[in-house]
This record gives sequence, C-alpha cells and structure tokens, in this order.
Amino acid sequence: MLMEKERELVAEYGRKMSTSGLSRGTAGNISIYDPETGYMAISPSGLGYFDTEAKDVVVCDLDGKVIDGTRKPSSEYGLHSSFYRARGGENCRAIVHTHSDYATTLACMGEPIRAVHYVIATLGTNEIPLCGYTTFGTPKLAEMAVAAANEGRAVLLANHGLVTWAADVAKAFNQAGNLESLAKTQWQCMAAGKMNVLTKEQIDDVLVRFQTYGQKKSSTNSY
Ligand code: 13P
Ligand code: ZN
Repeated sequence: MLMEKERELVAEYGRKMSTSGLSRGTAGNISIYDPETGYMAISPSGLGYFDTEAKDVVVCDLDGKVIDGTRKPSSEYGLHSSFYRARGGENCRAIVHTHSDYATTLACMGEPIRAVHYVIATLGTNEIPLCGYTTFGTPKLAEMAVAAANEGRAVLLANHGLVTWAADVAKAFNQAGNLESLAKTQWQCMAAGKMNVLTKEQIDDVLVRFQTYGQKKSSTNSY
C-alpha cells in the first residue's frame, strides 16, 4: 500500500477530529503531502471518520489523479493541492479542514479571527483572514482561499469553516483545536459587547518570546 504510514495517520486524525468535536459526520477533511513523490494521502469524500480505514484513504497527485486507493478523494482535494502548491515549504506538509462550531460561527458572521488572546501567535500571525464565500469543492474556492492567506497558517472560509496547515498532521490538528478555542473566546467577547484586540507589535513580541518558550535552551529567558 502506497504511503501506508500517512494513510494510517489520516484515518487516525479523522477519528480524533470526530471525537474532539471539531467536525461532525463527514464534515471536513485531512491530507498529508509527500514532496518527494508529489503525492498526497487525503481522506475519502463523504465517508464517516469511523468508517474510514487506512485503505480507504486515497493517494492522489496534486491534480487529483488517483494513484492508489479505491475511494473517491475528498471533494476539497483542489483546496489541499492549492495550499501545497502555493506554500510547498516544510511548514505545509499536512492540512486539516474543519467545520468546527466557533470558527464556523465567525466565518458565517464575516469575521476574521482576531488577536483577542496572545495564543494566536502560535499560528505565526496576529489575524486569521477570511476568504469570501463560494461553493465547496470548487477550483474557485481553492483559488480564493490561497489568495486570502497571510503569513499565518490558517484561513477561514466564509459560511463554511476553517483550513489550517503545518509541518505535520499532529501540529495541524492542534492548530485546528487552538483556533476553535480562540474563535470561541472571540465570539464570547463579541456577545458580551467588549473586545480588546492586541496590536501587531504586541503579537510580534509574543513571537519573539515563543523562541525561548518551554524547554528550548536560551540565555535570554528572563524568568
Ligand atoms: P468531503 O467529504 O468530500 O471531504 O467534503 C467535506 C467538506 O467539508 C467539504 O467542504
Ligand atoms: Zn468543508
């Protein structure tokens, strides 16, 4: 089986996406990209995450041509391909797309995710932009989503959901969870009628701080 490890991971993280509540039913999709072959392992279209085994995950090229697998790839294969093409670096090797509740709420309100909490800096930016609405699974959506992206690692899709990418699927999945939590905080601030948004400079300071956060060795850690 081609890309066996990646297919197992896609199936495993699909189940995690369901159990964590980040996506219900067949909403959302996951892929892992191998830059050496130019192939991605992507979740099958419209198949429940608990019905998806590694063999159901589809290996296809960036044009959506199936290389290995018996299922139809996710209808959003073009969205995933566009990000791998546009951001083909080491920080874009896996993509998680969700319809998670709070991120989707903001996307339906036409709101980006703003810097209401400093943790947004983990996404490498002070704002997660919003791309306009168009039909799911279309080349137009893929084009618009890539065009809307900034220096960070996620985009909201209007009236639809969230896309986030990272160096591996575990990181992309964690980002999706962090973004859902940030979106919830922002929505609560908006519902309460008061929101203090951090500035770009404040987020830039956090990014500097993150370079020495946790167990990373540094002489500049001033705690
Ligand atoms: P697929 O089941 O085809 O991956 O579609 C789900 C989805 O979220 C479409 O945007
Ligand atoms: Zn979707």
